[in-house]
Order: sequence, then structure tokens, then C-alpha cells
Amino acid sequence: MVKTALITGITGQDGYYLSHLLVEKGYRVVGLVPPRRQPNLTKLGSLVNKVEIYTVDLTSSMALLTAIENLRPDEIYNLAAPSFVPDSWHNPLGTLDLITGTATRMLEAIRNVGLATRFYQASSSEMFGDVISSPQNEETTFRPKNPYAAAKLHAHWTMVHHRQRYGLFACSGILYNHESPLRSPQFMTRKVSLAAASIKLGITDRLEMGNLDAKRDWGFAGDYVEAMWRMLQVEQPEEFVIGTGILHSVREVVETAFDCVGLDWQKYIVVNPEFLRPDEHFQLVADPSKAKAKLGWQPKVKLAEVIEMMVQADLERLQCGSLAPTALIPRV
Ligand code: NAP
Repeated sequence: MVKTALITGITGQDGYYLSHLLVEKGYRVVGLVPPRRQPNLTKLGSLVNKVEIYTVDLTSSMALLTAIENLRPDEIYNLAAPSFVPDSWHNPLGTLDLITGTATRMLEAIRNVGLATRFYQASSSEMFGDVISSPQNEETTFRPKNPYAAAKLHAHWTMVHHRQRYGLFACSGILYNHESPLRSPQFMTRKVSLAAASIKLGITDRLEMGNLDAKRDWGFAGDYVEAMWRMLQVEQPEEFVIGTGILHSVREVVETAFDCVGLDWQKYIVVNPEFLRPDEHFQLVADPSKAKAKLGWQPKVKLAEVIEMMVQADLERLQCGSLAPTALIPRV
């Protein structure tokens, strides 16, 4: 029996890798895409021919209920979100409505239709926020520091409440930063890969950065969507922290990217004091031991390999004159 999976946010980085994984596993994959965002389906490249697209307004409870009644999904992956955190300060209410509203409307729809649909909510390590201990695990207190994280936390708890009160199979992955050639250029890793490729090709000659000593726990998107899928295959729905457990500095990212194109990064990076932010005393870094024990999940791709993939993809895009992230086949 072919399983049906619905994905919100299918045109995003994770949406792409997850669709690819599920199509490979023989799923019928349906992307729920609002009418105004249909032009962004080009981001799926040739993958768009292997999935179905269902046009639906994610802000309408009735429309989502009808979608779930019609499509009768076995699994739902709720990934849609304005994922660039600083933007959430410009539109806190819109961020809350999309992140919390969509999760709540979907959970209510599953409950009202009465199917045994399994639901995955894309939670974030940003929910830990102002951490007072490292590394973080599923028991760590949430102290969100921005509207994005607060909205994610509300959605997370709404998911927990629907599981506890109504017995839904609902869970969430608390994911740390994960990157790929499909990362949007707003994010630091992609900014660096694009700069290394542009400088190599003589298109630009420098990159302004903030604190090179800042550290993060970065992984590969292809590994992290595998964890999402595994969370919906176990007997009991639970939360899982998903990260590498390893900290790398921004300096290491820069060095790796410029090494890939044979350039000395120190000649091209300019530290702009305006971008400098005080670094935190405790770092956001995952303790993924529960995911390893209960899901058998471990990250496979190292940060240096991810950065290399990103730089190669940007070189190819710039050489063919298009930054469109189409037709990139994920590894793993
Ligand atoms: P992404 O590449 O930014 O993709 C976000 C997706 O959400 C896109 O499909 C985007 O559609 C859609 N979206 C954005 N605003 C929307 C709106 N107003 N209405 C409807 N759809 C909207 O993000 P990602 O990296 O794939 O992340 C997937 C999920 O995981 C997100 O919920 C993110 O917050 C969460 N997460 C990501 C990370 C990470 O490091 N990547 C870490 C923790 C949690 P368009 O293509 O039309 O813009």
C-alpha cells in the first residue's frame, strides 16, 4: 500500500530533501502550497514532476480540513515557516500566525477528520534561546529570545497538547542549523560559499563578516530530513533533539570555503564591527544521544563536506549565469 505524505514548505531547503527521500521510498508526496507561492515551485527543479501539488491557503482552517479529508495522508510534515530569524522582528504577528496558526489548524484538522495521520512539527534549537547550560537535550528549559523562537515554541506546545489530550501521533524534531547548496543566501554559510565562488571567478573581491569566533552546531539538511522521517516510523511519538553535537567556528567555515577554491581567506574577509555581536557564554550545541538510541540516527556528512558541496554548487551556478537552485540532486 503506497503511503501518502503531505509537506508544507515543500519549496524550502528541507522540503526539497525530504520530498526526494520520500519519493525514493515510494511515497506519494503532496506539497501543500498557497496560491501566491506557486511561482516558487521552480525551486523544486525536476523533482516537481515526481510530487503532487495541492493548492491551499494555509491560513484557512476549512481549506486545510478539506485538504486532509481529500488527501487522507498517512504522514504530515509541517515545515512552512519564514525561517530567517532576524526577519521575525519585522513581522512578529505574521510569523506567529504562519508558524503557530498553521500547526494548530493542521492538528485540529487531523483531529476532526479522525484519521490516524502521523504529524511532524519542525521545531528549532532557537527555542532553547538564552541557554544556561550546554549541550542541550530534550529536558533543557526553553528560553526563546526572538519572535521566531517564541512562535516555534507555541507551535511545539500545541503539538504536545494535541498528543496528550487527544492521543494524536504528533511529534517534533528540535533541529539545530543544517545547511546545503539549497540554503538561502541570507544565511551565513551560503553567504560565505557564494562569496568564495564569486571571488574565485573575479565577480567580487571581498566579504564583510561579523564575529569569526562565533560557534554553531551545523549539519547537513539531507541527514536531518532522514531524522524527521524516522521520528514518524517509531511506535511512540516523542520529541528529539537533532544536531551533530559538534561546535565549529565561523572562521572554520570561511577557511574551508576558501580552501575549496584555492584562495587565502585572510586576503578577502573584512571584519565589519557593525556586524559584531557579543558571543554567548553558553553555546547552542546538541546532545543528540536520544535520537541515536531510539531512532538509530546519526549525522553522516561532516561540515567541511557540506561547505564543499555548497561552494561547488555556487561555482556551477555562477558559471552558468544563474543562481537558481534547480536540479541539484542531494547526496545521501
Ligand atoms: P526554508 O528553506 O526557508 O523554507 C521555508 C519554507 O516555508 C518554504 O517552502 C517557504 O515557501 C515556506 N514559507 C515561508 N513563508 C511562508 C508563508 N508566509 N506562507 C507559506 N509558506 C511560507 O527553511 P528550511 O531550512 O527548509 O526549514 C524548514 C523548517 O525547519 C522551517 O520551519 C524552519 O523554521 C525549521 N528549521 C530549520 C532549521 C535550519 O537550520 N534549516 C533549523 C531548525 C528549524 P517559499 O519557497 O514560497 O518561500
